[in-house]
Amino acid sequence: MKEKITIAIDGYSSCGKSTLARGLARSLNYIFIDSGAMYRGVTLYALENNLIADEQVQKTALIAALPSIALSFERSELSGHPELLLNGQNVEKEIRVPRVSNQVSKVAAIREVREKLVEEQRKLGRHGGIVMDGRDIGSVVFPDAELKLFITAALEVRVERRFTELTKKGIEISRNEVRENLQDRDHLDSTRAESPLIRAVDAILLDNSQLNREEQLEIAIKHAKKLISKASR
Ligand code: C5P
Repeated sequence: MKEKITIAIDGYSSCGKSTLARGLARSLNYIFIDSGAMYRGVTLYALENNLIADEQVQKTALIAALPSIALSFERSELSGHPELLLNGQNVEKEIRVPRVSNQVSKVAAIREVREKLVEEQRKLGRHGGIVMDGRDIGSVVFPDAELKLFITAALEVRVERRFTELTKKGIEISRNEVRENLQDRDHLDSTRAESPLIRAVDAILLDNSQLNREEQLEIAIKHAKKLISKASR
C-alpha cells in the first residue's frame, strides 16, 4: 500500500508554483522542494567565481567546477520553509536577486548542469511524499508522478505579482525590467534543447490568473486527495 504520492508542479516563471507547492506540502505533510532554487544556486556560484563574464557563461569552466558545488536545503526556523545552502552557506536571499534571475536560464540550459541537478532531485524524491516545482518535473524528473499540475497565469498578472514581491523585499526594479526578465526566461526555458519547459501530456492545466492563493490551493488539494486515496487502495 502506497500512502504518499509524488506531486510535480511545472509552469512559466512567476505564476505562483512555489507558493502552491509549499502550501500543498504543508497541508499534506510532504517535503517541498523548489528545484528552481537549485539552478539559481549554481548560477550564484558561477557569478561569484567569475564563470559568467559579459553576460556569457563560461560553459567549460562551469562544467569543470560542478563537482565543487554542493547544494542542500535546511528548514528556516523563522519561516518554516526550506532554504538553499550552497557549499554549506545559506544563500536563500542572494539567489533571488535580479543579477541571478537574469543569468539563470542560460545556466539551466547546460546539459551537464541539468544532469547533476536532476540526479539530486530524484534522490530527494525517492521515497515519495514530495511536492517539487520547476520546469521539467513532470516531464523529466518524475515522469511517473501520480499528480502533475501545469500552472499558467496571464503575463501582466505575473509581472504584478513578481514586482510586488521584489519591491517588498526592498529590491529596486521597474515593472518593465520584471516583464523583460519573465519573457526572456520563458522564451529560453521553452526553446532550449535540453528538457525544455513543456506541459506533460498527463498534466492538469491550472490557470490561476483569476484565483487567489487559497482558491488555487483548494483545487490542488482536491486533486491530490483523490489520487492519494486511489494510490492507497
Ligand atoms: O522557479 P524559478 O523561477 O526560481 O527558476 C529559475 C530558473 O531555473 C528558470 O527560469 C529556469 O531557467 C530554471 N529551471 C529549470 N528547471 C527547473 C527549475 C528551474 O530549468 N526544474
